Amino acid sequence: MTTSQIRDLATNRVSWIETLGASANEMLQVADASRTARAASYADKVEEAVERRGVLSATVGGYRAEVDLLEKTFRCSCPDHSQRGVVCKHLVAMTLAWREQRRAEWDALNQLLSL
Ligand SMILES: [Zn+2]
Repeated sequence: MTTSQIRDLATNRVSWIETLGASANEMLQVADASRTARAASYADKVEEAVERRGVLSATVGGYRAEVDLLEKTFRCSCPDHSQRGVVCKHLVAMTLAWREQRRAEWDALNQLLSL
């Protein structure tokens, strides 16, 4: 692989992270303050987190959470979400965890691109 191909890959990845990140921020703004506060204690309960084609999914505190960042839809198997339809603490915790990881990756890629 050439340096130019590596740069293209890194540039595309940065752009992908920015697209999904903007959507993640929108979703986090929909969550109310009390659920966002409670999500902090769930940060270490986010398990099996994956992102595939813009869809985040994880098991959070025993519930199955999923956010489609392209379609901007979300669901969680907990009662708070399934009965009230709200952005629950599980969805917030998963999205925050993903955003933190991507922020680190975004920083690293931009460092690479500035070389
Ligand atoms: Zn939930």
